[in-house]
Amino acid sequence: MYKKILLIFALFILVNINFASSEFKKNETESANLKSLYASYLMKNNNNTKYNNNDNSNNTNIYNDSVTKNKSKNKNELTVGIIGGGIAGLYAGMLFIKSMIFDDLGIDYTILEANKERVGGRVYTHKFDDHKYSYTDLGAMRIPLTPLMDRIVSNQNYSLFSKLAKGGYQIPTVPFLISVNNEISYYNGIRVLKGSPVLNPSDPFNYSDSNNGGPGKGIPDEYANRTVDSLILPVFYQFINNLTVDFYNGFKQMLKYDSYSARDYLKTFHNYPNSVIEYIENLSTISGRLDQTSITELLMSVFDFSGEKFVCVEGGTGLIVKSMSQIIKKKVEMGSFVTKISKSFDKKNNEIDGLNVEVVRDSNFGGSDTEILKFKHVISTTTLPALQRIDTSDLKLPLKLKVAIRSLKYTGAIKLAINFKYRWWEDSEFMSGKPIRGGSSNTDLLLRQVVYPSYGINNGTKGVSGVLLASYSGGLESIRISSMIGKKDKERKLLNIVLRDLAEIHNVDLKKLKNLYKDHFFQSWDNDEFSSGAFALFSTSQYTELFPSTGQSHVDGRFHLSGELTSVHHAWMIGGLNSAYRSVDLILKNEGFEDLRIKLRNNWGTIEQAEYPSLDWYKYDSDINHYKLY
Ligand SMILES: Cc1cc2nc3c(=O)[nH]c(=O)nc-3n(C[C@H](O)[C@H](O)[C@H](O)COP(=O)(O)OP(=O)(O)OC[C@H]3O[C@@H](n4cnc5c(N)ncnc54)[C@H](O)[C@@H]3O)c2cc1C
Repeated sequence: MYKKILLIFALFILVNINFASSEFKKNETESANLKSLYASYLMKNNNNTKYNNNDNSNNTNIYNDSVTKNKSKNKNELTVGIIGGGIAGLYAGMLFIKSMIFDDLGIDYTILEANKERVGGRVYTHKFDDHKYSYTDLGAMRIPLTPLMDRIVSNQNYSLFSKLAKGGYQIPTVPFLISVNNEISYYNGIRVLKGSPVLNPSDPFNYSDSNNGGPGKGIPDEYANRTVDSLILPVFYQFINNLTVDFYNGFKQMLKYDSYSARDYLKTFHNYPNSVIEYIENLSTISGRLDQTSITELLMSVFDFSGEKFVCVEGGTGLIVKSMSQIIKKKVEMGSFVTKISKSFDKKNNEIDGLNVEVVRDSNFGGSDTEILKFKHVISTTTLPALQRIDTSDLKLPLKLKVAIRSLKYTGAIKLAINFKYRWWEDSEFMSGKPIRGGSSNTDLLLRQVVYPSYGINNGTKGVSGVLLASYSGGLESIRISSMIGKKDKERKLLNIVLRDLAEIHNVDLKKLKNLYKDHFFQSWDNDEFSSGAFALFSTSQYTELFPSTGQSHVDGRFHLSGELTSVHHAWMIGGLNSAYRSVDLILKNEGFEDLRIKLRNNWGTIEQAEYPSLDWYKYDSDINHYKLY
């Protein structure tokens, strides 16, 4: 269990190095502690008591302009414009609707989605052909079964899947296999298979100083047989403990170190040599990330990724957003690109009475026709790069928020999917008796991580096509690979590299592999025009100094940011859901509809206190000599 918690260090990119069992034994005490700690966390939170009911939204230190002055007389007057039809926008729609099935808030809303072809944003399933399993998830692909994810998948009646099932949309899930036998670690030209003996356990990949010509040439010998787990476990233990015992206070404690990058933190507080930090990045397939990411963000990603079990949606995660868009009845307005948001004034008293949203409908693109829609409140769920393109100058947003929109950091990610004639990796004969069914392989080659489908395992008989995620990478490689995605001739070159590396990692014949190729789909989230980034990955001091402004209401309490970046749970669908809930709640609060806030809680549970970011957080930096901002 602890192995899983710490393997997640790889920021969603798991490492399965299983060679240094002696090192694991050294850490048995920590392991036992962490195990029981996490077990008690699960027990404590399974009934959704502590984790979710820590509702402090009323005590949040908020901006002065966040309480709406010119309130709606009743809820029928209230109209909300939701920018973006990703999972956050659709969820806000679900919270607002009143239908035969849900007795929800009954508030009028409109979802404006720039993409004219599909809803879902970063929840995106690509289908190659009609076969049941010929698909891949290019964005969200797995959900850990932890209390944190209760709002998505659990038997709680407020969970998204329960609500969808109630409305007639079943979301089938199957286990997502994180780690399986025979998956490969291929580093420095050496192939180690999970479950098979390791040739040189004291230095499995020949990285030690001794094997590279002396001190300073490799990594110090004493580190060469250590796993990422054993290097990180003692470092993170106390933080994970604090978050587990009391998330909100654990989170604030963690912010004390927010001004440290992960690299600085490991060097300053744990004396890790640079070569060891690079070794960690290498095995975790996150080249360059430890410089760019704050220790806070890294810890949160570890915390969020923990779990004994994971699931994925059979048929693809896209099924979730498709079902959501159908259940909300009111059609998402597709191909509606929002270009400007401005204030609207009541002519009688000259007070703000709403916001105007300028929309260019897809058919009008290139022309001068625009439509202006007026709403009492607006929720923007777009990524910040997408929001930066919208003209918000008339809103006179606070400086902190403007800086946040411009500079809060996202990481890129690529997914390279190949449709083969059949699932050769599951074929024992093709794989010389070592088939791989689910899980992932890691490498120092460009592909960094190969993810095998956990769905449809053993359905991969010859003659039925099979889709492999030949690379899922989020480190520096994603930028390097992105530059080869888009045009046909570039992708052909990239495809050759991908097939070459796949053959090398799996020790199979390249010619045979090429013969099995049918089709491919390469996705770069850096290049994606609707998101321009994969997910938030804050750098130093961004949580404390810039993040709080994204979770507050602005412009007479009428403008609300939502979406995964504005949640403390970055890079997860749950972040989108929690942030949408918060925006809906703040609208009700600012309008003074306390009865509806109670209804929201009764029907949909509560979100954790940390989802209402407080401007007080910056104070936690003071003892490490950080200047105060407010
Ligand atoms: C590679 C990758 C892997 C991931 N893996 C997982 C995982 O395994 N599990 C998990 O839970 N999560 C995962 N995530 C995270 C998850 O996908 C996101 O957190 C979540 O989907 C974000 O939803 P959102 O609604 O906040 O934003 P988005 O999905 O980005 O939605 C925003 C919407 O706004 C629209 N838009 C943009 N500009 C405009 C405009 N001007 N006018 C109108 N509309 C506009 C966009 O088209 C988009 O539809 C992953 C993400 C990526 C990229």
